Amino acid sequence: MTTTRVNCIACDTMILPATAERFGGLCAQCAKLPSDQLDVKRQIKEGINPLDHAIELTKRLIQRLITEYPNQHIVAIADPIFEAARFYTCDVIPRAFDYDEMKELNPDISDEIELYTSEIEGEYSLLKPIAQELKSISPELNLRGKVAVAASWGMGREEIGWMIRYLNTRDRFEEYLERWKMDESDIDQLNQAYNQELN
Ligand SMILES: [Zn+2]
Repeated sequence: MTTTRVNCIACDTMILPATAERFGGLCAQCAKLPSDQLDVKRQIKEGINPLDHAIELTKRLIQRLITEYPNQHIVAIADPIFEAARFYTCDVIPRAFDYDEMKELNPDISDEIELYTSEIEGEYSLLKPIAQELKSISPELNLRGKVAVAASWGMGREEIGWMIRYLNTRDRFEEYLERWKMDESDIDQLNQAYNQELN
């Protein structure tokens, strides 16, 4: 006798009707997940694109940060390939970011976004959409002497400087050069690499 299997309501696994009945339509794996993660899986199964949704939530978060922290530097820091970024502030933009010296902004929202990014399959980078959105808030920060930066933990002062120049006014960029005794030619050597990534 064959039993017709049914689809788990949160993933692609086919399960026995008895399993579905026992776990409210879920497979045994999904039944173990915390409810927020399960909710994201169900939304994706219903057709939400996790990358598009993660980008949308990230943009909304950036707009919220400028409202909540208009007088602070706003720094997006990610893993080297920008698969997931979190947002921080600090008193002075350093030559390299040290976790202990950064204060995280709205970590609960980044946690929520990561529920979606962890479901994305294939390669992607959030750098470009984050940079675009930071550009939209930087004029306001720049007027108050602050900057917006997109960076990864391993970046050096040249890379951080490049991003400051890309996202902010000339004045704010020159302040950074001056503070860390740098020359713009140090920054220019990164033009090709970054222009490729951002265009
Ligand atoms: Zn499942």
